Amino acid sequence: ARRKIIAGNWKMHGRSADLGWAERLSALFDAPPSSEVLVFPPATLLAPLSVRLPGYVAIGGQDCADAAEGARTGDISPLMLSDLGARYVITGHSERRMLHGESDAVVRAKTEAALKAGLTPVVCVGETLDQRRSGEAQNIVLQQLQASLPEAAAGHVIIAYEPVWAIGTGMTASPDDAEAMHKAIRQALRSGSGDELRILYGGSVNPANAAELLSRAQIDGALVGGASLDPESFASIIRSAG
Ligand code: 13P
Repeated sequence: ARRKIIAGNWKMHGRSADLGWAERLSALFDAPPSSEVLVFPPATLLAPLSVRLPGYVAIGGQDCADAAEGARTGDISPLMLSDLGARYVITGHSERRMLHGESDAVVRAKTEAALKAGLTPVVCVGETLDQRRSGEAQNIVLQQLQASLPEAAAGHVIIAYEPVWAIGTGMTASPDDAEAMHKAIRQALRSGSGDELRILYGGSVNPANAAELLSRAQIDGALVGGASLDPESFASIIRSAG
C-alpha cells in the first residue's frame, strides 16, 4: 500500500516568532507517525524551521524558479531550496496560477527544474467552481495535468488535487468526488508511474473531515493550508491518516 502523506502549506504566513510551531508539533508525538509529514513554510523560514523539526518531518518550498541560477531578481531556485535542506517543492498551486499568471507551461518548466535539482515536486491541479458546475472538472484537471508535467515525470512527482473552490472556503470536495478525480488522474498517468503515484487532496481539510477523506484508497494524503498553522490541528490530521 502507498504510504500516506500529510503536508502543511503555510502559504504567506509565519515569522520568527512562529518557529515554536516545530517544538509544539513534536511534543504531540511520542513516536514518528505512520504517515510521511511534510511542511512547506515560507522560504524565509526554511532554514530556521528545519533545524527545529524532528527528523520525521521533511520540508519543502512553496514555489521555485524554472532555472538553477541566473539574473532573476527576487526568484528562488530549486537548487537554493535543496541547499537549505528542502526535499520537496510545490509547483502550480492555484494561488500562483491565478495571482502570478502561471500557465501550465510555466508550471511544467518549474517542475522540470525542480526534478533536475533533485527535489520531489508536488504538482497542483484543480478546477474552478464554474468548471465543476458545467461538468468539465475532469477534462480540465486532466488537461492541466498533461500540460504541467514534464515528459516521463509521472514516476517522480506527487500530485495534489486542489479544487479551487475548496481552498480556504470551508467547502471540501466530497470524499466520493475527490476519489473519482484521483482515480481519473491515476488512470491518466498509469503508464508513467504504475500504482506508486501518490495523489493528495487539498482544500479545506481540517481535523473534522480528514479521517473520512483519508480513509479512501485513492486519497494518498492531504495538502493542508489553514489548519496546518495550528500544531494541534495539524497533529490531529496526521493522526487521522492512521
Ligand atoms: P486550505 O486548507 O486553507 O483550504 O488550503 C488548501 C491549500 O491550498 C493547500 O495548498
